[in-house]
Amino acid sequence: MTMFGIAVDIGGTYTRVAIGDTQGKLLGLERFYTREIRSPGELASRIADAAKRLAARLGVDPVAAAVGTAGPLDPEKGEIVGSPNMPFKRIPLAEPLRELLGLPVTVLNDCNAAVVGERTWGAGKGLDNLVYVTISTGIGGGAYVDGELLLGKDGNAVEVGHIVIDSEERLVCGCGGRGHWEAYSSGTGIPRLAALLSQSSPELWEKSPLSSMGEFTAKEVFEAYRAGDRFAELVVSEVVRYNVYGFAAIVNYFDPELITVGGSVALNNADILLRGFRERVSGYTINRVPEIRVTPLGGDAVLLGALAVALGFEEKVRPR
Ligand SMILES: [Zn+2]
Repeated sequence: MTMFGIAVDIGGTYTRVAIGDTQGKLLGLERFYTREIRSPGELASRIADAAKRLAARLGVDPVAAAVGTAGPLDPEKGEIVGSPNMPFKRIPLAEPLRELLGLPVTVLNDCNAAVVGERTWGAGKGLDNLVYVTISTGIGGGAYVDGELLLGKDGNAVEVGHIVIDSEERLVCGCGGRGHWEAYSSGTGIPRLAALLSQSSPELWEKSPLSSMGEFTAKEVFEAYRAGDRFAELVVSEVVRYNVYGFAAIVNYFDPELITVGGSVALNNADILLRGFRERVSGYTINRVPEIRVTPLGGDAVLLGALAVALGFEEKVRPR
């Protein structure tokens, strides 16, 4: 029998709400800017409103909801706590959503959701050792080891974006830590890495189209790279170097059979970021380096993972 679930992906940029079925098909979707919310309580109410509209439009009765969100989380309370990429320090989700939807709800780290999606409907089907990495506004990961979804005491295991990759600690991460991978290679980190490199390589910087832009985004750094800008080449080569360190740590920690990569920065620039990447990672590992590939779930990895969780595909994070 086909069942329907509510799937939510709360990202630093968009919050997306969808309804899908037991075949892993997303039937309807709404989205809004996460930063539009004016109070911590507004996030749950806007999610519930969107879910109710979708259910009415599709004429279905969802059985449960699951939310994948940028962490860190308080899993007992189902709240986002102190996320560097969120507009408020504490955002309650599970309790208000249960009340507003009248359904079982679970809240989990977005990358934990994504790796569930990858194993249920993506490239990780049948694999017991699998890591999903997102390179987006931030950097995060989710992992199965020996068939077990890794959660940790507070559901925040596999926060790989906060691995220290720069012993000189030149950049401060959104979390307040120094030298963290996310501060250098994420969508928010890349422009700041570029600003840092503009000081050490002023000649390349002055000739770069980026130097006349004032503020620029990671996307614009990659555009300049594609146009042959030497400064952008320097930035991207440093980004890739830090990615090599990050992925090498992942391979050494988890010994996965497959690593899939998602998130807008990786999805839009996989041709640059993953070219010859596996060989470079193997220079820094004791473990065998597995295949490293873009997720076939594309930008829907978190949503599909939340859907799989809502529909009870992963015993460890059942809605309640
Ligand atoms: Zn950090």
